[in-house]
Amino acid sequence: MTAAVADAMPVLRERGQREVFCGLTGIVWLHRKIQDAFFLVVGSRTCAHLIQSAAGVMIFAEPRFATAIIEERDLAGLADMNEELDRVVDQLLARRPDIRLLFLVGSCPSEVIKLDLGRAAARLSLRHRPAVRILSYSGSGIETTFTQGEDACLAALVPELPRQDGRSLLVVGALAEVVEDQFRRIFEDLGIGPVRFLPPRSAEDLPPVGPGTSFLLAQPFLGETARALEERGATRLEAPFPLGAEGTTGWLAAAAAAWQVEPSRFRDVISPCRERSRNALARYRAELAGKRVFFFPDSQLEVPLARFLSTELGMELVEVGTPYLHRRHLAEELALLPPGTMLSEGQHVERQLDRCRAAKPDITVCGLGLANPLEAEGLTTKWSIELVFTPIQGYEQAADLAGLFARPLRRRTALAAGGVAACS
Ligand code: SF4
Repeated sequence: MTAAVADAMPVLRERGQREVFCGLTGIVWLHRKIQDAFFLVVGSRTCAHLIQSAAGVMIFAEPRFATAIIEERDLAGLADMNEELDRVVDQLLARRPDIRLLFLVGSCPSEVIKLDLGRAAARLSLRHRPAVRILSYSGSGIETTFTQGEDACLAALVPELPRQDGRSLLVVGALAEVVEDQFRRIFEDLGIGPVRFLPPRSAEDLPPVGPGTSFLLAQPFLGETARALEERGATRLEAPFPLGAEGTTGWLAAAAAAWQVEPSRFRDVISPCRERSRNALARYRAELAGKRVFFFPDSQLEVPLARFLSTELGMELVEVGTPYLHRRHLAEELALLPPGTMLSEGQHVERQLDRCRAAKPDITVCGLGLANPLEAEGLTTKWSIELVFTPIQGYEQAADLAGLFARPLRRRTALAAGGVAACS
């Protein structure tokens, strides 16, 4: 039923100039999550600049990512380039014995010259196993948009997961540790388990997978990873995403149904958390209800965020743009959107800007490249990247998530009144 509703929803498909990150950006949060992994981008100086600007201050700490820059002389012959790459990897691993998992990350330049990083990873693995596992994936702008980099990385990990025949729950998608710990406790109280997380905090701790594995996607941008898990026999539990009090309840309910948890037990465990979360959201609802929001495409989180803002905070959705719409994975979310919601997939940025200006939304969710110019035109904006870096999933974080949308509006009001306000 929900799938039928999702399939029937009209979507405006656009192609043209895009204002989005490439998948390399995923390294910024993935390297913090898998603490003994290293990400070696094989790319140009542009790629190195991108990672450095996105990671900001973190480049001054002991880094667990770097770029092997393709020089002009490398382009002379791919054979030499493979030798050069092997040399860089050998040096890196000799210097950093703490690395257990190395990702060779493809970029636009490495793809255009057809450097086979899958082969390089296999070749280098033979040399460095069992001390280090070496894998590859693409984070290039030709193939991936922003969070799809995480999808490509996790999909590359799936064949490495040990096999398991017993029953288990796998939560898929990088979550902040505080969120992971909260979910772990709730599953334990519900009697659901064993529960494991992908990606794990350590490469030594890869979760097993097999026909007894049920998995819950914690993020909406994991199409390839889900497919790879299904190929290993695992089953996806259909659920909304754990954003807001209701999204989190629906997400947990999917696992509870699969584990046949008694409804009374589910109520006893969930009700206090759900109530606390609803109460915390109530004050934001008063502030945000009736406000009109416009989403530019960025992370694929747009549809679940729009559902949360509309159903739990009473906001009006002007347009919900997403770089890619996975109808099956978003079926539960799409069914909860108000009928007639304007959905767009892909981007023609000039046309979308025209629609946004004409609609004059109260708040526009967009990337950094558009935010300041739109602010200068008098529109209030929310930087979408913050929604990826901030812990926003689960009951305890629902009010923080609402706060991310309330803050720019408060700031605008304060500035209009001639006051001083904190940055959004
Ligand atoms: S991978 Fe492509 S889009 Fe990303 S920084 Fe490198 S050249 Fe630019």
